[in-house]
Amino acid sequence: MLRIGLTGGIGSGKTTIANIFLTLGIAVYDADTAARQLMNANQQIRQQLTERFGAATYKHGKLDRAYLASKVFDNAALLAELNAIIHPVTIQDSISWFTRQQGPYAIKEAALIFESGSEKHLDYTIGVWADKELRIERVLQRGGLDREAVIARMDKQMDEAEKMKRCNFVIDNNGKTSVIMQVLELHEHLKSLAGR
Ligand code: ADP
Repeated sequence: MLRIGLTGGIGSGKTTIANIFLTLGIAVYDADTAARQLMNANQQIRQQLTERFGAATYKHGKLDRAYLASKVFDNAALLAELNAIIHPVTIQDSISWFTRQQGPYAIKEAALIFESGSEKHLDYTIGVWADKELRIERVLQRGGLDREAVIARMDKQMDEAEKMKRCNFVIDNNGKTSVIMQVLELHEHLKSLAGR
């Protein structure tokens, strides 16, 4: 079974495209959701976060996301420390998840793949590409963030063009080419790569 990474910046359409793969019967690991769960459930993460960010990291036993966000916001060094605590555990979790999957291939959807070094544990990577302005508009429509906050997040992420260059396949999600057709083509291609 092939292990496939699906990546792209905020608002590129990763989740939307992951959902199309799901409808084709392909298993998808959502790294963002997994990381949130592990921050509450994993003892190693809990201990390290408490040591580094203080007892206030957990309130009534649950992760205080607003507190943690306020600590790492605008502090690249602390954000890197946070990632260094979380990434190794989520990468291990996804490695063991892959071993439990069936089918020709399974997908790990993650905003950060090259940044965390997790491509080492993947056979191929798919990038989702959309122009910056379109990504901003889509995230604003999704709700919850204002324009400045979206741009601030984008500026912290790896340059999109660079990220796409590193991917084995790129899905164009600029709205002009059908993403469903692109996913179907890729699905056939990945099945043949997997020998199915
Ligand atoms: P990501 O997971 O990369 O942040 P999402 O899949 O959540 O991106 O997409 C961001 C927003 O844009 C969502 O509200 C989604 O419904 C919308 N969107 C994504 N792709 C398209 C598309 N091709 N056409 C219209 N809206 C889209």
